Amino acid sequence: MSRVLFISQKDYEQHNIDSAVLRAFDYFGGIDSFIKPGDKVLLKVNLVAGHEITRRVTTDPSIVRAVAKLVLSQGATPFIADSPGIDNFKSAAKKAGFLDVANELGIECRELTEPVTLPVSQDSDFHKIQVSKDVIESDKIINLPKLKTHGQMLLTMGVKNLFGCIPGRLKASWHYNVGLNRDRFAGLLLDIYLNVKPCFTILDGVIGMHKDGPTSGEPYEFGIIAATQDAITMDFWLAKMLGADLNEYNLYNAAKRRNLIQCNLNPEDVCGDIDSTHVFSGVKLPRTRTMRLLPSIPFLDRLMTSKPVHIPEKCIGCGRCQDMCAAGALRHENKHLYFDYSKCIRCYCCHEMCPVKAIEFRESRLVKLVNLLTR
Ligand code: SF4
Ligand code: SF4
Repeated sequence: MSRVLFISQKDYEQHNIDSAVLRAFDYFGGIDSFIKPGDKVLLKVNLVAGHEITRRVTTDPSIVRAVAKLVLSQGATPFIADSPGIDNFKSAAKKAGFLDVANELGIECRELTEPVTLPVSQDSDFHKIQVSKDVIESDKIINLPKLKTHGQMLLTMGVKNLFGCIPGRLKASWHYNVGLNRDRFAGLLLDIYLNVKPCFTILDGVIGMHKDGPTSGEPYEFGIIAATQDAITMDFWLAKMLGADLNEYNLYNAAKRRNLIQCNLNPEDVCGDIDSTHVFSGVKLPRTRTMRLLPSIPFLDRLMTSKPVHIPEKCIGCGRCQDMCAAGALRHENKHLYFDYSKCIRCYCCHEMCPVKAIEFRESRLVKLVNLLTR
């Protein structure tokens, strides 16, 4: 059996999605090999912020509905959950269509709150990670990520989706703790994924996002659903198919540091409607990489990493960007933003939470010069 199943899926028609999700579970032994009667099952969606479904920021509700119905058919109790960055949970879940799914099926849709310590293995990079009590107390977790680009981490797929298990503002503290070092942040993501241990991942790549994701990019029709018990392998293959240089993908580097077997990228791990040679043409990845010429030094990393810039004509003056900035590097005043780039850790949370795409990335002069010389 291969590790990752790719299913060609061009639309969100519910009966087509139901069949695709059933096929996904059946390939790996059937839903009953994952879920037992009486299990409390957390469906970890991507609800980074409250956006209309057509923005393609959040997991499509048709996929959540299909999975929830299957879990219910096992006599188990599914609930839909996530922790958005700053938005009110109820209104975000309503916009994303999750509340409607919950009401229709008579299940709960709730915010991940109440931080408790996640028991982690000895070889973890971090030993004091707090996740929501719901994560610890669930019998099973089914991971339902969206396929998107990501300003800070290049891509957000199966592994990154579980960062949302950390409740509310604690996420911003982690950004601040880890600072500019994206390899360390990737190590944290691996720790969360490997210790939360979702039993199954179904990725919504029917229409995902490219360019400046995870919230301000443009929809891209990948036309796939991916299913796996090993989201690390899935993420690496997708990164390759999307044209990423794996050596610049921090998650891959963090896995390599730990000698994870998934780094070998065995073509036999891929099966289904596309094979390991597949390329998604025309995908634009965010231009936010850190150019690593020397070992990580915060001063140099800042100079070599794209910085957030304000687009005043788009700004509505909501102030969410300032609220999200754990580094205190940003002040909002009357539709003007004042960045202190010497404090900025390039986490791009301000960009991620801006509802109207009024924050973009800009390469520093030094990066432009190096690009010019190396081209
Ligand atoms: S200004 Fe934006 S990118 Fe910089 S630290 Fe604050 S939230 Fe992160
Ligand atoms: S830049 Fe975006 S998040 Fe910040 S105040 Fe303007 S609209 Fe709000």
